[in-house]
Amino acid sequence: MKILIVNAGSSSLKYQLIDMADESTIAKGLVEKIGLENGKLKHKGNGKEFVVEKKIDNHVIATQMMLEALTDAEHGVVKSMDEIGAVDHRVLHGGAKFTESVIVNPEVEAAIEENIPLGPLHNPANLAGIRACREVMPNTPMVAVFDTAFHMTMPPKAYRYGVPKDYYTRLKVRRYGFHGTSHRYVAARIPEYLGKKPEKLRIINCHLGNGSSVCAINAGKCVDTSMGITPLEGLLMGTRCGSMDPAVVQYICNQDHIDVNQMLEICNKKSGLLGISGVSSDMREVWAAAKAGNEDAQTAIDMLAEGVRKYIGAYAAVMNGVDVISFTAGIGENDAELRARILTGFEYLGAKMDYEKNAVTRGIEADVSAADSKVKILVIPTNEELAIARDTLQLVTNA
Ligand code: AMP
Repeated sequence: MKILIVNAGSSSLKYQLIDMADESTIAKGLVEKIGLENGKLKHKGNGKEFVVEKKIDNHVIATQMMLEALTDAEHGVVKSMDEIGAVDHRVLHGGAKFTESVIVNPEVEAAIEENIPLGPLHNPANLAGIRACREVMPNTPMVAVFDTAFHMTMPPKAYRYGVPKDYYTRLKVRRYGFHGTSHRYVAARIPEYLGKKPEKLRIINCHLGNGSSVCAINAGKCVDTSMGITPLEGLLMGTRCGSMDPAVVQYICNQDHIDVNQMLEICNKKSGLLGISGVSSDMREVWAAAKAGNEDAQTAIDMLAEGVRKYIGAYAAVMNGVDVISFTAGIGENDAELRARILTGFEYLGAKMDYEKNAVTRGIEADVSAADSKVKILVIPTNEELAIARDTLQLVTNA
């Protein structure tokens, strides 16, 4: 079976077509700058690559462009959409309702709609993607995969915020957590990699990319995570500020006469590595500036490393210890220097890195712990698309 995975962001749409017979990627692509003048589709498949540049008004048009690219007579990879057995849609916010992937029905659609206030940029794009695909493929199952689902096993002491209970019951104010598919993939891969039972492992997984989050996973289940009601909470990220005293928002709004929405735009898009370094949201560029002597860039890196160190300490406390510390996503998989900086000094916890092995590990699965380390330190490249496609295959086959 061929499975199409669609990931619609606020102004982009990523897709990948996987052949489940051998789990290979048949084609992948990205539609960018939806809603802007200079929209672009980049498609790779059959060893060929092509680009379409034009104004792309909305996600419905972007979805149609994706479907045309896949079936294009010259560059396409399928003759008709009937060859596709299921379409997965990554949905940002599932609220507290969904703990796993589900086949989209009117009730699921209503729930995605209901959660728009919690995911105002992503959920409408996700819905538009589902509806546009269904129009072209009315008989193909559409599956929704929620970024929040893996975290629904957290206990109330982890997911509740310290505001009056009414906000929780009436407005669903709580921690939801994100990057769920990535954390789940790594949580499932580690026991396989180590040849151990998931029930025996307490894992602290550090997903460090443009967006970053840490997750405490005990016996295969999420018990705490750093992102909150939105992906803004927790670590310093590419452009997001991460956790801070909420009074900062009020103070800046009052001083600069801006409203809370403008301030949150700054917190989401202009802060983090970009805001602190003044250089870039891209970790490689921040490192280059730091090495050239830029102190702000150095501070940004220090803040990120220190933030991860604090979560490792906290989550070791949450699980009464830790057996595995793992790194994934763009920075986690590739940035050996940051990994070394994060883990230096954790010997008291039983985590001792093999710094030489770590230094040469980039983008591959590896055990970078020293031979006498009690805690395993692993690099596990995330493969969210494959994890999603495997789930869907099971879901559709059993339906
Ligand atoms: P992601 O969101 O998972 O795609 O990760 C993107 C982030 O990974 C960006 O900040 C990149 O700069 C960072 N990244 C990718 N490769 C490297 C590398 N070799 N060293 C440091 N950061 C990297």
